[in-house]
Amino acid sequence: MKIALTGNPNSGKTTLFNAITGKIEHVGNWPGVTVEKKEGTIKSAYNPRGVDITAVDLPGAYSMNPYTSEENITKKFIFDENPDVIINIVDSANLSRSLFFTTQLLELGIPVVVALNKSDLVEKKGNTIHAGALSQHLNCPIVTTTATKSSENGLELLIAECIRHVEKPHKQIAAKIDGLKEAENEKEFKAADKKRYAFVDKIVSEVERRSISSHEQTKQDKIDRIVAHRVIGIPIFAAAIWAIFWVSQAWLGPIIADWLVGLLEGFQGWVGASVEGASPILSALLVDGIIGGVIAVVGFLPLIMVMFFLMALLEDCGYMARVSVVMDRYFKKIGLSGRSIIPMVIGTACGIPGVMASRTIKDERQRRTTAMLTPFMPCGAKLPIIALFAGVFFGDAAWVGTTMYFLAIVVIIISALIVRKITGDTSQSYFIIELPEYRFPSFKRATISMLSRGKAFVIKAATIVLVCNAVIHIMQTFTWDFAVTEVASESILASIANPFAIALLPLGFGLWQFAAAAVTGFIAKENVVGTLAVTFGISNFIDVDALELMGETGASAGVESAFAIGSVAALAYLVFNLFTPPCFACIGAIRAEVDSAKWTWGAVGFQLAMGYVLAFLVYQGGTLITTGALGQSFMQGLIVVIAICAFIGYLMASGSKKQTA
Ligand code: GDP
Repeated sequence: MKIALTGNPNSGKTTLFNAITGKIEHVGNWPGVTVEKKEGTIKSAYNPRGVDITAVDLPGAYSMNPYTSEENITKKFIFDENPDVIINIVDSANLSRSLFFTTQLLELGIPVVVALNKSDLVEKKGNTIHAGALSQHLNCPIVTTTATKSSENGLELLIAECIRHVEKPHKQIAAKIDGLKEAENEKEFKAADKKRYAFVDKIVSEVERRSISSHEQTKQDKIDRIVAHRVIGIPIFAAAIWAIFWVSQAWLGPIIADWLVGLLEGFQGWVGASVEGASPILSALLVDGIIGGVIAVVGFLPLIMVMFFLMALLEDCGYMARVSVVMDRYFKKIGLSGRSIIPMVIGTACGIPGVMASRTIKDERQRRTTAMLTPFMPCGAKLPIIALFAGVFFGDAAWVGTTMYFLAIVVIIISALIVRKITGDTSQSYFIIELPEYRFPSFKRATISMLSRGKAFVIKAATIVLVCNAVIHIMQTFTWDFAVTEVASESILASIANPFAIALLPLGFGLWQFAAAAVTGFIAKENVVGTLAVTFGISNFIDVDALELMGETGASAGVESAFAIGSVAALAYLVFNLFTPPCFACIGAIRAEVDSAKWTWGAVGFQLAMGYVLAFLVYQGGTLITTGALGQSFMQGLIVVIAICAFIGYLMASGSKKQTA
């Protein structure tokens, strides 16, 4: 026996599914969360007779006329796989909107059992719903449930009702909606929808008693009038992001990081002492190359974990959904929708799930554009780069991270406009989102989210980053004829990275070390910090003051002077790393979502161009402002930038022609 769970997004399907199957799945408010198909067997507690039942959790849907790809999945599943019974989960706090879908499900001729979920909220608000009357109106069984409760939640009854329905097969006859017929065109379709709404509204007015009229403003509405305000909402968002960066990068994060790095350096010293007497090349590889490089990356783990924790709190209290609403009106103007903000917010943790979340966008061009632009958001692996440069050159200032975050948004906006022009597509978009009620965020959920994201970071540091650091260390220890060299600039690594470094001269950081780090960054962005550590011979990036340099000079100096670039060039390098293409894995994810080689290469080329042009502007502009003169290799850089702009301009012009044609 197969039960399909359907309902509007946020009605509690996932929660109910987890409760009846006993499987722990992620519960969240993002539309992307339930996109995967999930199956499970019913727990014995709810299935005392041990009937063979599987439940399938379907993506959220508002109607059987799909507007989104999730709705499409749901519709296809119901039509193609013929479940024995459908559990329609209805959010009782939003009865009218939920029942629209219910009436459509009832017309399919498949047995439907309605779960009136979130009944605790109805009670809390002092409202009542007459389930018996509703059952009569709709002509289907109705069970009141509270999926979040562990007992007396109505779930046993719900499953029993499903089993009873299937064991005594009968055709469920849907309540009749007067004058409803198959729509043949847009006009008839709209008219049919209206009839359905009228039918539902009439039922709701008969079965529901509200203690407060829905026209009155609730506390939630009052908060939303400020937080989701189209103008005020933006500085509030900026302040929230700034606060997160301040706590994670300048205050709490570094405190924990100092302690952690101290611990790891103790370990490094111990390993160094234990291998004394062994081959100096091997011990240098182990102690400085592998362990030192990994310490440099793991040292940033606390900063990232604190950031993930705070982000999860913001998401959990319901604020992020408001951000989508605030941003929608602007995103719409650039040919995207509020839906695009969700992949981008997820992309702040890791670009890969971020890019994958763009799958929920129905419009193909919007989906491709979102997938292509999401990696511009500073992901978790880019945070160490931000933290490194903010720490070394700008005294840990929180404005560095905040600026990068907002620069990312500006870059995304400009890029979206460019892409829209290139594709010559100016179609409008629609955005529907469930605003969850504000609630006190759960520290437990935020901790789980932080730990799982942190785990991925540690695994990467222990695998990809470790191997890359070892390879980089070997490449900079040897010359091409495999002789050990003390002069790193004669090494294999330097000779490979040098040609790239020349291209970076107009950006202010034309040193082979920076070129090597940018290249290893394509394997994983965590490598940037690791490679800089190995090539400059520094392992402690957190405790800058107490730093001892082990590099070529052998002298004790600050990391700042070791980098041999000024703060303007450092900022340019940061921008370069943030806006050039993401890691290979993320490019793979883009390839999967845009489903086109042309778009994938276009995306990579565009990101390269963007990173180069921005770094050029930051370095040359910054140098001009701070010193009154242009930076090095200005003319060469200008030629490259003009060539890039001319090419993009040409593509945009031909896109516009396509549109007028
Ligand atoms: P889905 O999008 O339909 O899968 O919905 P989720 O299962 O993710 O639930 C959305 C939100 O509603 C979550 O925050 C749940 O904790 C909450 N929720 C689910 N069922 C109930 C319920 O019966 N009562 C209350 N108060 N909240 C619920």
